[in-house]
Amino acid sequence: MSLRAAILLLPTLLSAQQLDLLLRGGQVIDGSGSAARTADVGIRNDRIVLVGDGSKAQARRTIDVKGLIVSPGFIDPHAHVLEDLLSNAKKSNEAFLMQGVTTTITGNDGAGPIQSGATLAKWTQQGIGTNAAVYIGQGTVRREVMGMSDAAPSAEQVSKMKTLVARGVDEGAMGMSTGLYYAPGSYATSAEVIELAKAAAAEGGIYDSHLRDEDSYTIGLLGAVSEAIRIAREAKIPVHISHIKALGPEVWGKSAQVIELIRRARAEGLEVTADQYPYTASGSSVTASLVPRWAEVGGNAALIDRIGNPAVRPKLTEEMEANLKRRGGADSLLIISGRDKSLIGKRLAAIAIERHVSPVEAALEIIKNGGAGVASFNMSEPDIENFMRQDWVMTGSDGSEGHPRKYGTFPRKLRIYVNEKKLISLPYAIHSSTSLTAQTLHLADRGLLREGYFADVIAFDPATVADRATYEQPDLLATGMKFVIVNGQIAVEEGKYTGKLAGRALRHARK
Ligand SMILES: [Zn+2]
Repeated sequence: MSLRAAILLLPTLLSAQQLDLLLRGGQVIDGSGSAARTADVGIRNDRIVLVGDGSKAQARRTIDVKGLIVSPGFIDPHAHVLEDLLSNAKKSNEAFLMQGVTTTITGNDGAGPIQSGATLAKWTQQGIGTNAAVYIGQGTVRREVMGMSDAAPSAEQVSKMKTLVARGVDEGAMGMSTGLYYAPGSYATSAEVIELAKAAAAEGGIYDSHLRDEDSYTIGLLGAVSEAIRIAREAKIPVHISHIKALGPEVWGKSAQVIELIRRARAEGLEVTADQYPYTASGSSVTASLVPRWAEVGGNAALIDRIGNPAVRPKLTEEMEANLKRRGGADSLLIISGRDKSLIGKRLAAIAIERHVSPVEAALEIIKNGGAGVASFNMSEPDIENFMRQDWVMTGSDGSEGHPRKYGTFPRKLRIYVNEKKLISLPYAIHSSTSLTAQTLHLADRGLLREGYFADVIAFDPATVADRATYEQPDLLATGMKFVIVNGQIAVEEGKYTGKLAGRALRHARK
């Protein structure tokens, strides 16, 4: 417990146990990894003030939660909700609340906003349904300073980028995110990224990375994990790997080697962690999954020019053919979003047949017409399970529009991997969705069901908790969360969103 929490708790301990809310008789799983025990949970204002016997406590409201699991609210370290949280229609973050998620972190993949402080202030001013935190994005910073150029930065440009990163973390960002797979983040060398990561480290931030390669596109999956570890070592910064996976048939089975690399780094004393979503398809775009990055230099207009340039096109299509093979072929790409709504729900293979062209030709047409989002079926179940068993891997949705993971990740892990496959225990699954994440991201007083901690608390039926979202219907809300409490306020009651905007803008805790 922090000193501040202890001071806030003091009046409560001295006076009679006057509670705002008492959850009676639930099975408490506190997020530490410990097994369930029967206990009452008392909440006063925004804090948990009692975990134990509440029979003598006086409470303004008592809820009987017998038969339900009571645990800390889930924390999602990777959720594409930046736009949602700034929009009136979606700032409730209901897709996440209904999964039991009470905190979402956004701005991952190098795409976080430069103005962290303004983002956090806007959330506070307009209200948000879950707590939320943000990363400053290296891709955004590089684009700001260097446009879509793939050139090496001058000393002055490096210094400008470092200043922006330092300011972003100083204003409250959790740290710096990178998307080294994507343009323009990919145009930065390891050395350039290390310089920027040092600026984030100096402000107490962490480094969150979508790896340069999760497959065999450039430096390979193992090369990319090694790069992340090198960044941890040389920038002296905790490194968190986003949505860890072995993407594509060429690297299936390599989870064991990835785990070994990370195990050795951790044994060396480096802080290296990862998150993961429990789906075999990733979410990407036609462009990001198939087009080589050299073709994106200069931005989208330059890419369209290259597609139309007969001197460039053969090389472009040849590399795209190879990338399509890496992804598992044209049947592995399912269109889930984009300007042309008639394509949604179709596989690239089927679109190509319809149009009597090759899959790559069909992809180029789609890109010329504004592009499209895809679910890319590229993971193997044994790799997913192998990563899930590691005690440094936490749950993270990577939630984005059109992919069921945005609405289903957390309950799906409980439904499939705890209840059906029995791969992990319920306390372990909860730990990997709560305190492991709070510790990794330096979120103060969250992630555990402990006296003095913030009252982010959920109560759910372990037998019926389930994801409902599918690739065909990706935005079906999850079920089974009976109560979701955010900072002491009931956001979900008897399985229904109450309309409360009880979330807060979170800043990283300085160490
Ligand atoms: Zn990503």
